[in-house]
Parts: sequence; C-alpha cells; structure tokens
Amino acid sequence: MQYISTRGNTPKMPFSEVLLMGLAPDGGLMLPESYPQIDKATLDKWRGLNYPDLAFEVMSLFATDIDKDDLKALIDKTYTKAVFNSDDITPVRSLKDGIKILELSNGPTLAFKDMAMQFLGNAFEYVLAKKGQRLTIIGATSGDTGSAAEYALRGKKNIEVFMMSPHGKMSEFQRAQMYSLMDDNIHNIAIEGMFDDCQDIVKALQQDKAFKEKYSLGTVNSINWGRILAQIVYYIKGYFNATDNNNQKVSFCVPSGNFGNVCAGHIAKEMGLPIERLIVATNENDVLDEFFKTGKYIPRKASQTYVTSSPSMDISKASNFERFIYLLVGKDSQKLNELWNDVNSGQGFDLSHLLNDAQNKYGFVSGKSTHADRIATIKAVYESDNDLIDPHTADGIKVAREVRLPSETIVVTETALPVKFSDTIVEAVGQIEIKRPEHTKDIEGLPQRVVVLDNKAELVKELIEQKVKL
Ligand SMILES: *Cc1c(COP(=O)(O)O)cnc(C)c1O
Repeated sequence: MQYISTRGNTPKMPFSEVLLMGLAPDGGLMLPESYPQIDKATLDKWRGLNYPDLAFEVMSLFATDIDKDDLKALIDKTYTKAVFNSDDITPVRSLKDGIKILELSNGPTLAFKDMAMQFLGNAFEYVLAKKGQRLTIIGATSGDTGSAAEYALRGKKNIEVFMMSPHGKMSEFQRAQMYSLMDDNIHNIAIEGMFDDCQDIVKALQQDKAFKEKYSLGTVNSINWGRILAQIVYYIKGYFNATDNNNQKVSFCVPSGNFGNVCAGHIAKEMGLPIERLIVATNENDVLDEFFKTGKYIPRKASQTYVTSSPSMDISKASNFERFIYLLVGKDSQKLNELWNDVNSGQGFDLSHLLNDAQNKYGFVSGKSTHADRIATIKAVYESDNDLIDPHTADGIKVAREVRLPSETIVVTETALPVKFSDTIVEAVGQIEIKRPEHTKDIEGLPQRVVVLDNKAELVKELIEQKVKL
C-alpha cells in the first residue's frame, strides 16, 4: 500500500516513511491511496480474535512494508494486560438506559491517547533501528498529549523527548504523572508562560532548519498517520464487543477536538464496518458541530477558544478534519488547497451543498455540550448507575442521549478516567473518593524532575544541545 498527501504534491510513500512524518512536505496530511475493504466473511473470521490478533489483521492491511513477524511482535508487545489493565484491552460496559461505553482509557496515562501512542512508541523505535536513525521529539502540552507521549517513549532507544508545559498551570495529578518519570531520555521543561508560549517555542525550533536537521527534530501530534491507524482497531473491536453478530449495526458517539479519534471511526466505516452513524460531540468549542449542522467550517482564533471543564476538547481548528474533507470533495486536491487557504486566512469555507453527503453518505451527525450539561450528566449517571464518568465522556453521553433514535445502539468512546479531572467530578457529585488504578495510587508523593526555564526558545535549544549526544 502506498500513501499520498491530501494536497496532491508529495510523492507516494510506503508506511514506514509516513510513520515518522507530521505534516506532508506540501502542507497536507498523508492517507492511503484507498481504504482496504472488509467484507462479511472477513468480519466473521475476525469476530473471535483477541485484541492483538485483530490489531495484526487490521494493521497488516496498511503497514505492508513492515515484515509481518516484526509487526506481530510490535503489536504483541504493545497491547498487553500489564499495560492496559485487562485481557480485553478495550472492554465495553452498558448504562441502564442501554448506552454502551467503550473503555479506551485504562492505559498508563488514563486517557484514550495511550491506545495509539503506546503502539507509536514501539513502532518508532523499530523503524529508527532499521534505518539507523535517531529522533529528538519536541512537544508542547497542557496535559494529556504530553504524558501519553512520554509514557510511550520512555526508555526507547535512539529517541530523546523534550516536553514543554506551562509552569504551574497543569493539575497536580498531571504534573505528578509527567514529572515523576526518571528515564534518562525524558526531559520535562516547565516554561514561565502559557501553553501558547510553549507551542511557539516548538514552532521556532522547527523553523530553524539547521538545528532541526542536526538534531532530527520530530513531533508526535495527532495528525500522525500511525496514531489514526492504531485507533481504527478499537472501532472494530468495539463493534464486536457491543454486538452479538455481524448483521447488527452500531453508532459511535465520540467526544471530539482535533477530529483524530472520530476520523479513525470514519475510516473504519469506509472500510465496511457496519457503523450506522458517527456522532461528533463537542464542548462549547463547537466548530465541528457547526459544520455538521450547516456545512460551514469557520475555525476560530486562540483568543476565541473557551477554556472549559473538558479541556482536551478546547480546540477550534481540527487538525485531522482535512482527511475527511478530502473524501467529501471527491479527492480533489486542487479544491482542498483552496479550502485550506481560506481556513488559514481565517475565513473558513462553506460546503453546505455537500452537507447531505456528510450526513447521509458518511453518516455524520453532531451535538454540543456545555459545562452545565457535563455536570448534570456526570451527576445523573452517578445516581442512576453508580458509575463515574470523566467530563469528556460526559459530553459524549449527553449528545448520545439527545440524538439517539429508537432501537439505535450507541457506543460512546470513553476518552479519559474521572480521576484525571477530580475538581469537576467533585463539583458534580460532591466530595467522594474517586477510584484510581493501582499504578497511580501514590503518584503525587513520588520525587519529581523538571527544569524551569524562562519563555525563550534559545534556552530550550541550549538544553537540547547539552543533553543530546550525537
Ligand atoms: C484528545 C482528547 C479528546 C479529543 O480527541 P480528538 O482526537 O482530538 O478529537 C477528547 N477527550 C480526551 C480526554 C482527550 O485526551
């Protein structure tokens, strides 16, 4: 299988090259030339497989230039009970009203990003060793992404990680998760500034061509194709876990920000998985809800982005959206370039003439949830089911209940565990003890390691020069 860029100006490439990429050189996102198709017979064959065996079947359709035995070994090493806390890896549970929850947050950092990032860590190490290369990963985080990346890349050969976070702005739990890592290749940097300042430093370093080349700078952001691929697997596994046979259909409801999670569901549907609808749930930052209701996509500036109690969805420009729009406009790269010129100029675009396709051909529907909705939903689910859900998952359940059709089976993806967002949980249900997985029991009491730096890209550069031995 070969990969192409949505913008049409990048030579075709195999999987192992796409794996290490962020944006394509032409500014687009990488995609397979076409999505492989799975038929009824394939689904029948796959239904009984455990998670790693299913992951191997799915990923080997896409990662065709990786040796099959090596791919199997990478997957077997990634999806284990020791890492994901259950043999099932992604179990499904049901609420009393019939809504199902696909558990994706039982990995090391208690958010769904571990599902893909853990695979990426192992795959990076493998591909780098094959190519005889090394990587310096730089990133900016306000919480979930940074910790998922660090837990995936800790101790990996030929990879150093420099993760910037705003000094004093993360929760105590999030700080403890990241700063308690003592692996030699993990470097936490607290910047005297805000998240945007951290992001600006990442950009500044990447724009320094000589420095970028010398240190092989890379990122692990959500546009990485390897992450999307790893996520396709749990839609298929989630479908099997939520149904009895392959004649049934389900809908997925996905708390969304960068459109990475639901993009994988969209691809699974395009491959032929019996998905009825893909329900995009947003918080107050509702650009995607606006698009799926009107066909108008009008990204907002950072200054127009609300800080909410489902912070990992506080995004007003969905970086993976382009992968879907490419299909929606009939794989017309020329058109896509024009649309994203209008996105980058701040104007956005209007595809209302294709809204019917987005809704009916691709099955998208959307809804939005506010702080009051999320608090009420956490409280209601706790009272009816004695089940605690995190604020992001609550956004999903709120929207699922709102749009659900009679006899529709909706599976909501659980994107984090409640203990990560205890302030909001306490606001919803009062002072209670929130269950924690064993490995995070005393995490706040562990020794921490972090370097505090002034908000200057030069200082981060100096630190990298000092720590990375070429
Ligand atoms: C990243 C994240 C999301 C949003 O996922 P996207 O792939 O960006 O749409 C939702 N909830 C949580 C807890 C997250 O960490």
